Amino acid sequence: MCIIPPRSPLGAAETILNVKSSLSASQSHASQCRTGHAFIGEYYARFVPTEDPSCACGIFAQTREHVLRDCDYFEPHRHILYDFEPQFSISDLTGTAEGITALSEFLKVSGAYRKGVPRHGEDYLPVL
Ligand SMILES: [Zn+2]
Repeated sequence: MCIIPPRSPLGAAETILNVKSSLSASQSHASQCRTGHAFIGEYYARFVPTEDPSCACGIFAQTREHVLRDCDYFEPHRHILYDFEPQFSISDLTGTAEGITALSEFLKVSGAYRKGVPRHGEDYLPVL
């Protein structure tokens, strides 16, 4: 006998909520990194003009590329990305399971993509 569980009145919406609630914060930030909808300057410049688009390191426009490849603030944790691929590509980092795992770990320990990461001129205290 096959028993079919009762359907929720919320249906697909409830499924989406359950998936979202099961994501860790770093997985959520990795997803934000993949889509470009994140607490970084390039998002602020486009969608939240009242927020400062600069990076804590002083560069005017904080982009995904800058955070992942260039920013001195996140350099202590960048080895996670180089361990994934020494010459990592953003598309591999955001488009493969191994890349997303490395990206999630980098975002977790660096604090990048987290709201409240200091802006230009503020002290930075990485999450360890
Ligand atoms: Zn920076």
